Amino acid sequence: MTPQHPERRSDHTADLVVVANRLPVRRSSGDDESGEWTVSPGGLVSALAPVLADRKRFAWVGWPGSADGPTEPFTHEGMRLVPVHQTEDEYSRYYEGMSNGTLWPLYHDKIEPAEFHRTWYDAYRQVNQRFADLAAEIAAPNATVWIHDYQLQMVPGFLRALRPDLTIGFFLHIPFPPGELFRQIPWRKALTIGILGADLVGFQTPAGAFNFARLAESLNLATRISSDTLGRNGRRIKVKSFPIGIDADRYAEGANRPDIAQRAAAMRERLGNPKAVLLGVDRLDYTKGIDVRLRAFKELLSEGKLLADEVKFVQVAEPSRDGVDAYVALRERVQGLVGEINGDFAEVGVAPVHYIHQSQDFDELMSLYRCADVMMVTPFCDGMNLVAKEYVATRHDDTGVLVLSEFAGAAHELSDALIVNPYDIDGLKSALLEAVFLDEDDAKRRMRSMRTLVFENHASRWAESFLRELARWSTSLAQAPAAPQKPAATQ
Ligand code: UDP
Repeated sequence: MTPQHPERRSDHTADLVVVANRLPVRRSSGDDESGEWTVSPGGLVSALAPVLADRKRFAWVGWPGSADGPTEPFTHEGMRLVPVHQTEDEYSRYYEGMSNGTLWPLYHDKIEPAEFHRTWYDAYRQVNQRFADLAAEIAAPNATVWIHDYQLQMVPGFLRALRPDLTIGFFLHIPFPPGELFRQIPWRKALTIGILGADLVGFQTPAGAFNFARLAESLNLATRISSDTLGRNGRRIKVKSFPIGIDADRYAEGANRPDIAQRAAAMRERLGNPKAVLLGVDRLDYTKGIDVRLRAFKELLSEGKLLADEVKFVQVAEPSRDGVDAYVALRERVQGLVGEINGDFAEVGVAPVHYIHQSQDFDELMSLYRCADVMMVTPFCDGMNLVAKEYVATRHDDTGVLVLSEFAGAAHELSDALIVNPYDIDGLKSALLEAVFLDEDDAKRRMRSMRTLVFENHASRWAESFLRELARWSTSLAQAPAAPQKPAATQ
Protein backbone atom coordinates (compact mmCIF):
# COMPACT_ATOMS: atom_id res chain seq x y z
CA MET A 1 0.00 0.00 0.00
CA THR A 2 1.32 3.46 -0.77
CA PRO A 3 1.41 5.83 2.19
CA GLN A 4 -1.83 7.70 2.73
CA HIS A 5 -2.03 11.47 2.51
CA PRO A 6 1.52 12.56 1.71
CA GLU A 7 2.04 15.85 3.50
CA ARG A 8 4.42 18.73 3.26
CA ARG A 9 7.15 18.38 5.84
CA SER A 10 7.72 21.96 6.75
CA ASP A 11 4.23 22.76 7.94
CA HIS A 12 5.31 23.25 11.59
CA THR A 13 2.03 21.90 12.90
CA ALA A 14 2.71 19.18 15.46
CA ASP A 15 2.54 20.30 19.08
CA LEU A 16 3.89 16.95 20.32
CA VAL A 17 6.66 15.19 18.38
CA VAL A 18 8.12 11.81 19.34
CA VAL A 19 11.55 11.08 17.88
CA ALA A 20 12.62 7.42 18.06
CA ASN A 21 14.86 5.18 16.00
CA ARG A 22 11.90 3.29 14.48
CA LEU A 23 8.50 4.49 13.35
CA PRO A 24 5.76 2.70 15.34
CA VAL A 25 4.51 0.88 12.25
CA ARG A 26 5.58 -2.21 10.33
CA ARG A 27 4.77 -3.46 6.87
CA SER A 28 2.65 -6.50 7.65
CA SER A 29 3.10 -8.44 4.41
CA GLY A 30 6.76 -8.54 3.52
CA ASP A 31 9.04 -5.55 3.26
CA ASP A 32 8.11 -4.53 -0.25
CA GLU A 33 6.12 -1.47 -1.23
CA SER A 34 2.90 -3.47 -1.50
CA GLY A 35 2.80 -4.34 2.21
CA GLU A 36 0.10 -2.91 4.49
CA TRP A 37 1.23 -0.76 7.40
CA THR A 38 0.14 -1.86 10.84
CA VAL A 39 0.87 -0.21 14.17
CA SER A 40 3.47 -2.21 16.13
CA PRO A 41 1.70 -3.56 19.20
CA GLY A 42 2.86 -2.66 22.70
CA GLY A 43 5.87 -0.49 23.34
CA LEU A 44 5.98 3.29 23.20
CA VAL A 45 2.92 3.71 21.05
CA SER A 46 0.59 2.04 23.52
CA ALA A 47 2.25 3.90 26.40
CA LEU A 48 1.45 7.14 24.60
CA ALA A 49 -2.12 6.23 23.64
CA PRO A 50 -3.89 8.09 26.51
CA VAL A 51 -1.66 11.14 25.98
CA LEU A 52 -2.37 11.12 22.25
CA ALA A 53 -6.10 10.96 22.79
CA ASP A 54 -5.87 14.59 24.05
CA ARG A 55 -3.45 15.76 21.38
CA LYS A 56 -4.67 15.96 17.82
CA ARG A 57 -1.49 17.54 16.43
CA PHE A 58 0.99 14.75 16.99
CA ALA A 59 3.88 13.52 14.84
CA TRP A 60 6.41 10.69 15.07
CA VAL A 61 9.84 10.94 13.45
CA GLY A 62 11.64 7.63 12.87
CA TRP A 63 13.22 5.15 10.50
CA PRO A 64 10.61 3.26 8.43
CA GLY A 65 12.47 -0.07 8.64
CA SER A 66 14.24 -0.29 5.28
CA ALA A 67 16.41 1.78 2.97
CA ASP A 68 13.71 1.74 0.28
CA GLY A 69 10.85 2.72 2.61
CA PRO A 70 8.74 5.87 2.17
CA THR A 71 10.56 9.19 2.18
CA GLU A 72 7.64 11.60 2.55
CA PRO A 73 5.52 12.08 5.68
CA PHE A 74 2.24 10.17 5.73
CA THR A 75 -0.67 9.65 8.07
CA HIS A 76 -1.61 6.28 9.51
CA GLU A 77 -4.40 5.73 12.05
CA GLY A 78 -4.38 9.44 12.85
CA MET A 79 -0.63 9.61 13.47
CA ARG A 80 1.55 11.86 11.33
CA LEU A 81 4.59 9.72 10.51
CA VAL A 82 7.80 11.36 9.31
CA PRO A 83 10.24 8.81 7.85
CA VAL A 84 13.97 9.39 8.26
CA HIS A 85 15.73 7.96 5.25
CA GLN A 86 19.03 6.07 5.73
CA THR A 87 21.13 4.36 3.10
CA GLU A 88 22.22 0.78 3.80
CA ASP A 89 25.73 2.03 4.43
CA GLU A 90 24.50 4.64 6.93
CA TYR A 91 22.35 2.02 8.66
CA SER A 92 25.35 -0.26 8.92
CA ARG A 93 27.61 2.44 10.44
CA TYR A 94 25.08 4.43 12.49
CA TYR A 95 22.92 1.56 13.79
CA GLU A 96 24.92 -1.66 13.70
CA GLY A 97 28.22 0.16 14.18
CA MET A 98 28.12 3.15 16.53
CA SER A 99 24.80 2.31 18.24
CA ASN A 100 25.25 -1.44 18.70
CA GLY A 101 29.00 -1.98 18.35
CA THR A 102 30.14 1.04 20.41
CA LEU A 103 27.41 2.39 22.69
CA TRP A 104 25.43 -0.77 23.49
CA PRO A 105 28.40 -2.79 24.86
CA LEU A 106 29.92 0.19 26.63
CA TYR A 107 26.66 1.18 28.33
CA HIS A 108 26.21 -2.47 29.40
CA ASP A 109 29.45 -2.69 31.39
CA LYS A 110 31.60 -3.87 28.46
CA ILE A 111 30.48 -7.49 28.72
CA GLU A 112 31.73 -7.49 25.13
CA PRO A 113 34.43 -5.02 24.11
CA ALA A 114 33.21 -1.78 22.57
CA GLU A 115 34.71 -0.76 19.23
CA PHE A 116 35.46 2.83 18.33
CA HIS A 117 35.48 3.78 14.66
CA ARG A 118 35.50 7.31 13.32
CA THR A 119 33.44 6.35 10.27
CA TRP A 120 30.74 4.92 12.57
CA TYR A 121 30.69 8.12 14.57
CA ASP A 122 30.50 10.24 11.41
CA ALA A 123 27.40 8.33 10.27
CA TYR A 124 25.89 8.53 13.78
CA ARG A 125 26.30 12.31 13.81
CA GLN A 126 24.92 12.70 10.27
CA VAL A 127 21.89 10.51 10.92
CA ASN A 128 21.23 12.25 14.26
CA GLN A 129 21.38 15.60 12.46
CA ARG A 130 18.82 14.31 9.94
CA PHE A 131 16.42 13.25 12.72
CA ALA A 132 16.83 16.72 14.28
CA ASP A 133 16.24 18.52 10.96
CA LEU A 134 13.00 16.63 10.37
CA ALA A 135 11.77 17.18 13.93
CA ALA A 136 12.55 20.91 13.55
CA GLU A 137 10.50 21.03 10.34
CA ILE A 138 7.41 19.35 11.74
CA ALA A 139 7.26 20.90 15.25
CA ALA A 140 4.87 23.82 15.81
CA PRO A 141 6.15 26.96 17.59
CA ASN A 142 6.84 26.14 21.27
CA ALA A 143 5.98 22.47 20.70
CA THR A 144 7.16 19.61 22.90
CA VAL A 145 9.58 17.07 21.43
CA TRP A 146 10.34 13.77 23.18
CA ILE A 147 13.50 12.03 21.92
CA HIS A 148 14.24 8.39 22.73
CA ASP A 149 17.27 6.28 23.40
CA TYR A 150 20.93 5.69 22.77
CA GLN A 151 20.74 5.82 18.96
CA LEU A 152 19.70 9.49 19.12
CA GLN A 153 21.75 11.10 21.88
CA MET A 154 22.93 13.99 19.70
CA VAL A 155 19.44 14.93 18.54
CA PRO A 156 18.52 17.11 21.58
CA GLY A 157 21.57 19.35 21.05
CA PHE A 158 21.11 19.61 17.27
CA LEU A 159 17.43 20.34 17.69
CA ARG A 160 17.97 23.04 20.31
CA ALA A 161 20.40 24.79 17.97
CA LEU A 162 17.76 24.77 15.21
CA ARG A 163 14.70 25.50 17.36
CA PRO A 164 15.44 27.15 20.72
CA ASP A 165 11.68 27.73 21.21
CA LEU A 166 10.97 23.98 21.68
CA THR A 167 10.59 22.12 24.97
CA ILE A 168 12.80 19.05 24.61
CA GLY A 169 12.76 15.81 26.63
CA PHE A 170 15.16 12.90 26.25
CA PHE A 171 14.72 9.41 27.72
CA LEU A 172 17.39 6.72 27.71
CA HIS A 173 15.91 3.20 27.73
CA ILE A 174 19.20 1.43 28.52
CA PRO A 175 21.55 1.90 31.50
CA PHE A 176 23.79 4.95 31.61
CA PRO A 177 27.26 3.74 32.61
CA PRO A 178 29.63 5.05 35.26
CA GLY A 179 31.86 7.89 34.03
CA GLU A 180 34.92 5.63 34.16
CA LEU A 181 33.46 3.68 31.22
CA PHE A 182 31.81 6.52 29.34
CA ARG A 183 34.99 8.58 29.31
CA GLN A 184 36.62 6.00 27.02
CA ILE A 185 34.44 7.22 24.12
CA PRO A 186 36.54 9.48 21.89
CA TRP A 187 33.44 11.62 21.24
CA ARG A 188 32.36 11.74 24.89
CA LYS A 189 31.94 15.51 24.96
CA ALA A 190 29.90 15.71 21.77
CA LEU A 191 27.55 12.97 23.03
CA THR A 192 27.16 14.59 26.44
CA ILE A 193 26.55 18.02 24.91
CA GLY A 194 23.94 16.35 22.70
CA ILE A 195 21.98 15.02 25.68
CA LEU A 196 22.37 18.33 27.53
CA GLY A 197 20.38 19.96 24.72
CA ALA A 198 17.25 18.58 26.43
CA ASP A 199 15.34 20.38 29.19
CA LEU A 200 14.52 17.10 30.94
CA VAL A 201 16.75 14.02 30.76
CA GLY A 202 15.17 10.77 31.98
CA PHE A 203 16.79 7.45 32.96
CA GLN A 204 15.44 4.06 34.01
CA THR A 205 17.08 4.19 37.45
CA PRO A 206 18.48 6.76 39.91
CA ALA A 207 21.95 5.27 39.21
CA GLY A 208 21.69 6.27 35.53
CA ALA A 209 20.67 9.82 36.46
CA PHE A 210 23.49 10.02 39.02
CA ASN A 211 26.09 8.74 36.54
CA PHE A 212 25.04 11.21 33.87
CA ALA A 213 24.96 14.26 36.15
CA ARG A 214 28.36 13.38 37.60
CA LEU A 215 29.81 12.84 34.13
CA ALA A 216 28.52 16.17 32.77
CA GLU A 217 30.13 17.96 35.74
CA SER A 218 33.40 16.06 35.51
CA LEU A 219 33.72 16.82 31.79
CA ASN A 220 33.21 20.47 32.74
CA LEU A 221 30.15 20.69 30.51
CA ALA A 222 27.65 21.59 33.24
CA THR A 223 27.48 22.80 36.83
CA ARG A 224 25.34 21.29 39.55
CA ILE A 225 22.54 23.63 40.61
CA SER A 226 20.67 21.20 42.86
CA SER A 227 20.47 17.45 43.43
CA ASP A 228 18.54 16.94 40.16
CA THR A 229 19.36 20.07 38.19
CA LEU A 230 22.33 20.97 36.02
CA GLY A 231 23.18 24.36 34.53
CA ARG A 232 24.80 24.94 31.15
CA ASN A 233 25.20 28.17 29.20
CA GLY A 234 22.51 29.89 31.24
CA ARG A 235 20.03 26.98 30.78
CA ARG A 236 18.74 24.60 33.42
CA ILE A 237 18.48 20.86 32.76
CA LYS A 238 16.56 18.47 34.99
CA VAL A 239 17.98 14.94 35.33
CA LYS A 240 15.70 12.29 36.90
CA SER A 241 14.74 8.64 36.83
CA PHE A 242 11.41 7.47 35.35
CA PRO A 243 11.27 3.64 35.51
CA ILE A 244 9.34 2.44 32.48
CA GLY A 245 6.27 0.24 32.91
CA ILE A 246 4.34 -2.15 30.66
CA ASP A 247 0.75 -2.15 29.45
CA ALA A 248 -0.06 -4.57 32.29
CA ASP A 249 -3.76 -4.92 31.40
CA ARG A 250 -2.91 -6.08 27.87
CA TYR A 251 -0.74 -8.90 29.25
CA ALA A 252 -3.18 -9.82 32.02
CA GLU A 253 -6.11 -9.96 29.59
CA GLY A 254 -4.07 -11.84 26.98
CA ALA A 255 -2.95 -14.50 29.43
CA ASN A 256 -6.42 -14.86 30.90
CA ARG A 257 -8.06 -15.83 27.62
CA PRO A 258 -9.48 -19.40 27.59
CA ASP A 259 -7.66 -20.25 24.33
CA ILE A 260 -4.35 -19.23 25.93
CA ALA A 261 -5.10 -21.39 28.97
CA GLN A 262 -5.66 -24.31 26.62
CA ARG A 263 -2.47 -23.63 24.70
CA ALA A 264 -0.50 -23.41 27.95
CA ALA A 265 -1.96 -26.73 29.13
CA ALA A 266 -1.13 -28.36 25.79
CA MET A 267 2.39 -27.01 26.01
CA ARG A 268 2.84 -28.52 29.46
CA GLU A 269 1.53 -31.80 28.18
CA ARG A 270 4.02 -31.75 25.30
CA LEU A 271 6.79 -31.11 27.81
CA GLY A 272 5.75 -34.34 29.56
CA ASN A 273 3.79 -32.74 32.44
CA PRO A 274 6.93 -31.98 34.45
CA LYS A 275 6.90 -30.91 38.11
CA ALA A 276 8.34 -27.55 37.11
CA VAL A 277 8.77 -25.56 33.91
CA LEU A 278 11.59 -23.03 33.95
CA LEU A 279 11.40 -20.30 31.31
CA GLY A 280 13.75 -17.71 29.82
CA VAL A 281 12.57 -15.22 27.17
CA ASP A 282 15.20 -12.89 25.77
CA ARG A 283 16.59 -11.39 22.64
CA LEU A 284 19.71 -13.44 21.92
CA ASP A 285 21.97 -10.80 23.46
CA TYR A 286 25.16 -11.21 25.49
CA THR A 287 23.80 -8.86 28.16
CA LYS A 288 20.96 -11.24 29.05
CA GLY A 289 22.89 -13.97 30.88
CA ILE A 290 21.32 -16.83 28.89
CA ASP A 291 24.55 -18.83 29.06
CA VAL A 292 24.94 -18.43 32.82
CA ARG A 293 21.47 -19.78 33.57
CA LEU A 294 22.09 -22.74 31.26
CA ARG A 295 25.35 -23.46 33.10
CA ALA A 296 23.60 -23.26 36.48
CA PHE A 297 20.90 -25.64 35.24
CA LYS A 298 23.50 -28.07 33.90
CA GLU A 299 25.35 -28.19 37.23
CA LEU A 300 22.09 -28.79 39.11
CA LEU A 301 21.32 -31.73 36.81
CA SER A 302 24.88 -33.08 37.16
CA GLU A 303 24.66 -32.90 40.94
CA GLY A 304 21.27 -34.64 40.91
CA LYS A 305 19.61 -31.66 42.64
CA LEU A 306 17.21 -31.35 39.72
CA LEU A 307 16.07 -34.32 37.64
CA ALA A 308 15.84 -34.11 33.84
CA ASP A 309 12.46 -35.85 33.69
CA GLU A 310 10.97 -33.62 36.40
CA VAL A 311 12.14 -30.14 35.43
CA LYS A 312 12.08 -28.67 31.92
CA PHE A 313 13.91 -25.58 30.82
CA VAL A 314 12.40 -23.62 27.91
CA GLN A 315 14.59 -20.89 26.49
CA VAL A 316 13.28 -18.50 23.85
CA ALA A 317 16.18 -16.65 22.26
CA GLU A 318 14.77 -14.17 19.77
CA PRO A 319 17.19 -13.65 16.86
CA SER A 320 18.86 -10.27 17.18
CA ARG A 321 21.54 -8.16 15.47
CA ASP A 322 22.86 -11.01 13.34
CA GLY A 323 25.09 -8.50 11.54
CA VAL A 324 27.23 -7.93 14.66
CA ASP A 325 30.07 -10.45 15.28
CA ALA A 326 29.56 -10.76 19.04
CA TYR A 327 25.98 -11.96 18.47
CA VAL A 328 27.08 -14.67 16.07
CA ALA A 329 29.63 -15.91 18.64
CA LEU A 330 27.01 -15.85 21.42
CA ARG A 331 24.62 -17.89 19.32
CA GLU A 332 27.26 -20.58 18.87
CA ARG A 333 28.08 -20.54 22.60
CA VAL A 334 24.43 -20.91 23.64
CA GLN A 335 23.73 -23.62 21.07
CA GLY A 336 26.84 -25.47 22.25
CA LEU A 337 25.62 -25.39 25.86
CA VAL A 338 22.11 -26.54 24.93
CA GLY A 339 23.65 -29.39 22.92
CA GLU A 340 25.88 -30.40 25.85
CA ILE A 341 23.02 -30.47 28.36
CA ASN A 342 20.66 -32.39 26.11
CA GLY A 343 23.50 -34.68 25.03
CA ASP A 344 24.34 -35.50 28.64
CA PHE A 345 20.84 -35.74 30.12
CA ALA A 346 18.26 -36.48 27.41
CA GLU A 347 16.54 -39.79 26.86
CA VAL A 348 14.53 -40.65 23.77
CA GLY A 349 11.52 -38.32 23.84
CA VAL A 350 12.71 -36.44 26.96
CA ALA A 351 15.00 -33.44 26.52
CA PRO A 352 15.65 -31.20 29.51
CA VAL A 353 16.25 -28.03 27.46
CA HIS A 354 13.86 -26.76 24.79
CA TYR A 355 15.67 -24.06 22.88
CA ILE A 356 13.66 -21.84 20.52
CA HIS A 357 15.73 -19.52 18.36
CA GLN A 358 12.71 -17.82 16.79
CA SER A 359 10.69 -14.74 17.53
CA GLN A 360 7.49 -15.58 19.43
CA ASP A 361 4.27 -13.69 18.82
CA PHE A 362 2.07 -12.30 21.59
CA ASP A 363 -0.18 -15.36 21.95
CA GLU A 364 2.73 -17.79 22.10
CA LEU A 365 4.45 -15.61 24.71
CA MET A 366 1.27 -15.48 26.80
CA SER A 367 1.02 -19.28 26.67
CA LEU A 368 4.67 -19.62 27.69
CA TYR A 369 4.30 -17.18 30.60
CA ARG A 370 1.21 -19.06 31.77
CA CYS A 371 2.93 -22.40 31.48
CA ALA A 372 6.09 -21.35 33.39
CA ASP A 373 6.45 -22.03 37.10
CA VAL A 374 9.77 -20.21 37.30
CA MET A 375 10.77 -17.25 35.15
CA MET A 376 14.51 -16.70 34.86
CA VAL A 377 15.62 -13.15 34.12
CA THR A 378 19.36 -13.08 34.71
CA PRO A 379 20.96 -10.23 32.73
CA PHE A 380 24.45 -9.02 33.57
CA CYS A 381 23.18 -5.52 32.89
CA ASP A 382 19.78 -4.34 31.63
CA GLY A 383 18.03 -0.95 31.50
CA MET A 384 14.72 -2.33 32.81
CA ASN A 385 13.83 -5.79 31.38
CA LEU A 386 10.20 -5.77 30.35
CA VAL A 387 9.95 -9.56 30.24
CA ALA A 388 10.19 -9.66 34.06
CA LYS A 389 7.21 -7.31 34.35
CA GLU A 390 5.25 -9.10 31.62
CA TYR A 391 5.56 -12.44 33.42
CA VAL A 392 4.31 -10.89 36.65
CA ALA A 393 1.36 -9.24 34.85
CA THR A 394 0.20 -12.60 33.45
CA ARG A 395 0.17 -14.45 36.81
CA HIS A 396 -3.47 -13.73 37.68
CA ASP A 397 -3.65 -16.49 40.31
CA ASP A 398 -0.47 -15.20 42.06
CA THR A 399 1.44 -18.40 41.36
CA GLY A 400 4.88 -18.51 39.75
CA VAL A 401 8.31 -17.39 40.90
CA LEU A 402 10.50 -14.73 39.33
CA VAL A 403 14.29 -15.15 39.58
CA LEU A 404 15.66 -11.69 38.80
CA SER A 405 19.14 -10.29 38.40
CA GLU A 406 20.03 -7.42 40.69
CA PHE A 407 21.53 -5.76 37.57
CA ALA A 408 18.19 -5.42 35.77
CA GLY A 409 16.49 -2.04 36.26
CA ALA A 410 13.34 -4.00 37.18
CA ALA A 411 15.03 -5.20 40.40
CA HIS A 412 14.61 -1.69 41.89
CA GLU A 413 10.86 -2.18 41.87
CA LEU A 414 10.47 -5.98 41.98
CA SER A 415 12.39 -6.57 45.16
CA ASP A 416 10.07 -9.47 46.06
CA ALA A 417 11.57 -11.56 43.26
CA LEU A 418 14.34 -13.99 44.18
CA ILE A 419 17.17 -11.56 43.51
CA VAL A 420 20.42 -13.01 42.14
CA ASN A 421 23.88 -11.91 41.10
CA PRO A 422 24.33 -13.55 37.68
CA TYR A 423 28.11 -13.54 38.10
CA ASP A 424 27.72 -15.81 41.15
CA ILE A 425 26.88 -19.22 39.72
CA ASP A 426 26.49 -20.88 43.13
CA GLY A 427 24.11 -18.13 44.20
CA LEU A 428 22.16 -18.60 40.97
CA LYS A 429 21.95 -22.36 41.52
CA SER A 430 20.64 -21.84 45.05
CA ALA A 431 18.04 -19.37 43.78
CA LEU A 432 16.88 -21.77 41.04
CA LEU A 433 16.49 -24.55 43.61
CA GLU A 434 14.71 -22.22 45.99
CA ALA A 435 12.39 -21.13 43.15
CA VAL A 436 11.49 -24.71 42.19
CA PHE A 437 10.76 -25.73 45.78
CA LEU A 438 9.40 -22.42 47.14
CA ASP A 439 6.58 -22.70 49.63
CA GLU A 440 3.32 -21.81 47.85
CA ASP A 441 2.23 -19.18 50.37
CA ASP A 442 5.59 -17.44 50.20
CA ALA A 443 5.48 -17.52 46.39
CA LYS A 444 1.98 -16.04 46.35
CA ARG A 445 2.85 -13.30 48.80
CA ARG A 446 5.82 -12.29 46.65
CA MET A 447 3.85 -12.40 43.42
CA ARG A 448 0.96 -10.36 44.88
CA SER A 449 3.27 -7.59 45.95
CA MET A 450 5.05 -7.53 42.57
CA ARG A 451 1.74 -7.48 40.72
CA THR A 452 0.63 -4.41 42.65
CA LEU A 453 3.74 -2.56 41.51
CA VAL A 454 3.52 -3.67 37.87
CA PHE A 455 -0.15 -2.64 37.60
CA GLU A 456 0.43 0.67 39.38
CA ASN A 457 3.42 1.85 37.34
CA HIS A 458 2.03 0.89 33.95
CA ALA A 459 3.28 2.17 30.61
CA SER A 460 0.88 5.04 30.11
CA ARG A 461 1.45 6.28 33.65
CA TRP A 462 5.17 6.35 32.86
CA ALA A 463 4.62 8.37 29.64
CA GLU A 464 2.22 10.73 31.39
CA SER A 465 4.58 11.31 34.29
CA PHE A 466 7.49 12.12 31.96
CA LEU A 467 5.44 14.53 29.85
CA ARG A 468 3.82 16.12 32.91
CA GLU A 469 7.23 16.72 34.49
CA LEU A 470 8.49 18.15 31.18
CA ALA A 471 5.54 20.57 30.96
CA ARG A 472 5.92 21.61 34.60
CA TRP A 473 9.64 22.10 34.21
CA SER A 474 9.24 24.11 31.01
CA THR A 475 6.76 26.44 32.76
CA SER A 476 9.10 26.93 35.71
CA LEU A 477 12.02 27.61 33.32
CA ALA A 478 10.03 30.32 31.59
CA GLN A 479 9.46 32.03 34.95
CA ALA A 480 12.93 31.54 36.51
CA PRO A 481 16.01 33.72 36.04
CA ALA A 482 18.80 32.28 33.86
CA ALA A 483 21.15 29.71 35.42
CA PRO A 484 24.79 30.64 36.14
CA GLN A 485 26.76 31.01 32.87
CA LYS A 486 29.73 28.73 33.62
CA PRO A 487 30.95 26.57 31.90
CA ALA A 488 30.58 26.46 28.10
CA ALA A 489 33.13 23.86 27.10
CA THR A 490 32.63 22.33 23.66
CA GLN A 491 34.51 19.69 21.80
N1 UDP B 1 9.61 -10.44 22.84
C1 UDP B 1 8.77 -10.87 21.84
N2 UDP B 1 9.02 -12.06 21.21
C2 UDP B 1 10.10 -12.84 21.54
C3 UDP B 1 10.95 -12.40 22.58
C4 UDP B 1 10.69 -11.19 23.22
O1 UDP B 1 7.78 -10.20 21.51
O2 UDP B 1 10.29 -13.88 20.92
C5 UDP B 1 9.31 -9.15 23.50
C6 UDP B 1 9.05 -9.28 24.99
O3 UDP B 1 7.70 -9.64 25.21
C7 UDP B 1 9.41 -7.87 25.49
C8 UDP B 1 10.50 -7.42 24.53
O4 UDP B 1 10.45 -8.30 23.41
O5 UDP B 1 8.30 -7.00 25.36
C9 UDP B 1 11.88 -7.48 25.17
O6 UDP B 1 12.01 -6.40 26.05
P1 UDP B 1 13.10 -6.42 27.23
O7 UDP B 1 13.01 -5.12 27.94
O8 UDP B 1 12.90 -7.62 28.09
O9 UDP B 1 14.50 -6.58 26.50
P2 UDP B 1 15.16 -5.82 25.26
O10 UDP B 1 15.01 -6.76 24.11
O11 UDP B 1 14.43 -4.51 25.07
O12 UDP B 1 16.62 -5.66 25.62
